[in-house]
Amino acid sequence: MQYRETLPLGPREVVLTFDDGPLPPYSSRVLDALAAECVKATYFLVGSMARAHPELVRRIAVDGHTIGTHSQNHPFTFHNMSRARAEREISGGIASVSAALHGLKPAPFFRIPGLLRASSVEAYLASRGLITWSADVPSDDWRRISDTEIVRRTIARLEAHNGGMVLLHDIRPATALALPKLLRELKARGFRIVHVVPAGGPVVTTATAPGQWAVRAASRKPSVKRATRTRLAERRVKTVRSASLWQREAARRRASARMAVIREENPGPRRGLFDFSRRIPE
Ligand SMILES: [Zn+2]
Repeated sequence: MQYRETLPLGPREVVLTFDDGPLPPYSSRVLDALAAECVKATYFLVGSMARAHPELVRRIAVDGHTIGTHSQNHPFTFHNMSRARAEREISGGIASVSAALHGLKPAPFFRIPGLLRASSVEAYLASRGLITWSADVPSDDWRRISDTEIVRRTIARLEAHNGGMVLLHDIRPATALALPKLLRELKARGFRIVHVVPAGGPVVTTATAPGQWAVRAASRKPSVKRATRTRLAERRVKTVRSASLWQREAARRRASARMAVIREENPGPRRGLFDFSRRIPE
């Protein structure tokens, strides 16, 4: 919704993203609904929530979803906080999620709470190799609307965009209720849910054929008509903005080399990738 770059999605391809969790019982219901349809999503977890519900963080990982972070405490002030505080929020969120995963690092994906972007924060994220995510399609599920209305608005907006990245919140009762209906409706309308993973991460060791998950290069001239976009953070670094064309191209390639879109049909759970069973529970 904010950036000129977006994921290299094809027509009617959809990426599901869930912010602010995990929180029982809603996150569990959302995970159940995703598992029932063999669909993979991307999570942006809040550090304090991960500390409170580490078992849910591990379930998200074991179920094969991508885990990014969304700060430690979810302040709605990223657009005007000091860089030092932003760094603490970002690092704290990653440390908390990593602790829940017994030391495994989450994906280098970050979504700013409230999408309240600031150049200094984006530059810091880029300097740490973290990719800033926005969204294409809001579901409005934070506006306390009904599950039926969440489905209606999301589908209407996805139809208007012919696909895109959907922003949802797995801590909302209405979202948990809406999800099975939303997934059925997406299927019936011929949308295809694809899964975004960090390039080179553990998921690429699954049996998927490389042709199915390779990144397609993003358009060099992104259409301004498309309302939105997740953007690869590197492109916003101040130095890149004034850099020569070849430097911009190099930055673009570095960023797109760090994400992959998985398009396999019915991948099923990727159990075994993260085996926490032999660890001592917290
Ligand atoms: Zn949020």
